[in-house]
Parts: sequence; structure tokens; C-alpha cells
Amino acid sequence: MTKRIALVTGGMGGIGTAICKALAAAGHIIVTTYSKPGKEAAWTADMKALGYDVHAYQCDVTNGEQCANMIAQVTAEIGTISVLVNNAGITRDGSLRKMTVEDWRQVISTNLDSVFNVTRPAIDGMVEQNFGRIINISSINGQKGQFGQTNYSAAKAGMHGFTMALAQEVARKGVTVNTISPGYIATDMVMAVPQEYRDKIIAQIPIGRLGKPEEIASLVVWVASDMAGFMTGANLAINGGQHTT
Ligand code: NDP
Repeated sequence: MTKRIALVTGGMGGIGTAICKALAAAGHIIVTTYSKPGKEAAWTADMKALGYDVHAYQCDVTNGEQCANMIAQVTAEIGTISVLVNNAGITRDGSLRKMTVEDWRQVISTNLDSVFNVTRPAIDGMVEQNFGRIINISSINGQKGQFGQTNYSAAKAGMHGFTMALAQEVARKGVTVNTISPGYIATDMVMAVPQEYRDKIIAQIPIGRLGKPEEIASLVVWVASDMAGFMTGANLAINGGQHTT
């Protein structure tokens, strides 16, 4: 079988890098995006040193025009995207009473508008080839809400609404659409939280530890595979038992 092309937005981040490595190890050609230039050369060199076929494109996922251009360029230079992992995301925490409209818009735009911006130009290629996997990386906090995260919880819950609707639209076209909702994962972002506060987070996780980026990545690989062809519109919780719906 020819190698499938997987696009991972924000693939140079903590979870994104693990997803790119796992999809590459499973035989995919990897395309990733970054918005802030600086680390793409070193990141790409590290991945190539592992023997992976990787390509990096600069693209701000909040900008629809840049996303459409990036997808057109990838399609022309590499081929049709078969697997899309909408992974780029940010937080701008604060209680609603202190939240600025800028904090609200940035988080909604980066986590939710981005899903439309990237999926819309990628979906036709998947439908035409009668195969596609769209995987939206949401969050436990989109399922249960979180103090100080009205913006993030709304955006992450919205991602799953998108998943459920699009899943119905493309179900008969060989394209599945699913959400993965990680709990707390040991990335730089979470490890930067002071130990005392991190211990309080861990105390709420029945399994008794943070998740590993590789544990999210291995679920992505399975959802992207032919084995997962009967699952669509699902929200897969992977959170150490912290929240169970
Ligand atoms: P990181 O901050 O390590 O990575 C986020 C990535 O998103 C970066 O590569 C960043 O690239 C990219 N990004 C941010 N803004 C933009 C933009 N405007 N355009 C393009 N890319 C952008 O985060 P994680 O790896 O921890 O998180 C990955 C995903 O998992 C996120 O969606 C997050 O919400 C979700 N998640 C994370 C959890 C955790 O515990 N870490 C738990 C639950 C969900 P650049 O620096 O170039 O902008």
C-alpha cells in the first residue's frame, strides 16, 4: 500500500511531536504546521535522523486563507491528505469576570476556528479518495468544564460538536471523524506548573500519575488505522479515570 499522508497541526509541541513520531513509525508521511518560526529546522532534522519522512509548513491555524493555501501546497507537493489531526491549541486562563475579549477570541480561534479552517480545504480530497481520518484533539476540560477556562472548555466542547456533525456528513464516504479528549499529560506546559499544584492535580487522577504524550499518540495511531473504520463521531476519553463520560 502507498504511504498515507498525515497532517498534524501544531506537531512540534509536546503531544504533537509524540503523535508525529507514532504516525511516522506506523508508516505515514508526516506533514506538520507551526506558527512561530525558530524550531522547525532542528525539529525536522531530529525527525529525519529517526528515519521519518517529515515536512513542515508555516501556517497560522487561526487564518483561513493561510490554511487553504497550506493544504493546496501540501496536496500539490506531497499528495492528498488521508489523516488530519487537529492538535494545535492554546490556553489563556482566567475566571470569566477577569477574562478579556482578546483571551476569549484567541482561545476560540486557535482551538475551534482552526478545526474549520484546516478541515474545510482537506475534506474534499478525502471524500474523493474514499478514505479519511479526522481526529480532533480536545480535552477533559471540554467534557467536564474547568474553573478559569470558560474559553478553553467552550472551544474544546465545540470541537466535539463539530466531530459529531461532520461524522454524519461523511460517514458513507470512507471518512471517519472522532474526538480524543486527553486528561492531564506530562508536557512542558503541565510540568511547568509548580510541584505543589501538580501534586493536587495528580491526586484527582485515579491512576495516580499524569498521562504520557505517547499514550495519546498510540490512540491516534489506532484511530487513524483501517482497524478503526467502524468508529465515527466518538469522543474518546483518555484521562487516567479522572472523568468517565
Ligand atoms: P503545546 O503548547 O506543546 O503545543 C501546541 C502546539 O500548537 C504548538 O506546536 C504550537 O505551535 C501550535 N499552535 C498554537 N497556536 C497556533 C496557531 N495559531 N497556528 C498554528 N499552530 C499553533 O501543547 P500540547 O502539546 O500540550 O497540546 C496539544 C493539544 O492537546 C492542544 O490542543 C491542547 O489543548 C490539547 N491538550 C493538552 C493537554 C495537556 O495536558 N498537555 C491535555 C488535554 C488537551 P507554535 O508554537 O509554532 O505556535
